[in-house]
Amino acid sequence: MRFDIVTIFPEMVESGLAAGVVGRARQSGLLDIVVHNLRDFTTDRHRVVDDVPFGGGPGMVLKPEPLFAAAEAIAERRGPADAVLLMSPAGKPFTQADAKRLSYLEHLVVLCGRYEGIDERVREHVATEEISIGDYVLSGGEMPALVVVDAVSRLVPGVVGDAQSVEADSFTRGLLDHPHYTRPAEFRGHRVPDVLVSGHHGEIRKWRQREAVRRTAQRRPELLAGAGLDADEHAFVRELRDSVPACAQAKASAGEGCSPARIKGSE
Ligand code: SAM
Repeated sequence: MRFDIVTIFPEMVESGLAAGVVGRARQSGLLDIVVHNLRDFTTDRHRVVDDVPFGGGPGMVLKPEPLFAAAEAIAERRGPADAVLLMSPAGKPFTQADAKRLSYLEHLVVLCGRYEGIDERVREHVATEEISIGDYVLSGGEMPALVVVDAVSRLVPGVVGDAQSVEADSFTRGLLDHPHYTRPAEFRGHRVPDVLVSGHHGEIRKWRQREAVRRTAQRRPELLAGAGLDADEHAFVRELRDSVPACAQAKASAGEGCSPARIKGSE
């Protein structure tokens, strides 16, 4: 899969792509990622990429010319892009479903904003979608670009060695991941759940499945509706929900708050 990332801080993006599974996949040729310096697409002596906003106000805006030129040069040198992603806090919140959808494409271009943002004409005429990685504002699109490239790359076959690990990840099925433990089986008096050291693979699978449902019900109940729960899992959610009044009573008599009301209405 090919990525072209356009930024005024190529070294920042390169350093984020050098290590781990993405770094290895680049070396093996599974991922072909080119990071472009936006200044290389300017035509003036000072390689200026920004200008003051029309209408006044604080900050600077990334000019349209170098971004249009970058997109055109990439299309010419590396072939047409299947999608041009503009990183923006005003974009669609990025989800695992977006990562999956984008991982089926061959060639993605990612545009990183800076300062007050990018001239709107880039969003209108160059970008095919605008992506936000969350409801907060970063200083630039470089970290969002790394987030998107990493999340998409993990889903490209072969990038993560063990495909099963990707399948079990949070959100892949619509549930949060179950808890994980490693050796030692007992650490400072804290034991790992007995079932995990029992050697009963069927029981271990069942425990993990229930813990994923429990964790999702407790932390992100709104995800349960889209998780395609089977009959056993539905029954378990009902069990969890039925345990709420008991929990609430116990905590109230102990003078504590109780938040598992979140479990209510989770199916
Ligand atoms: N004035 C802009 C606003 O309020 O929406 C913020 C611009 S921000 C300081 C500069 C650049 O960082 C943006 O153009 C975008 O590329 C990137 N950026 C910041 N936060 C982001 C987020 N949550 N998701 C994606 N990109 C973000």
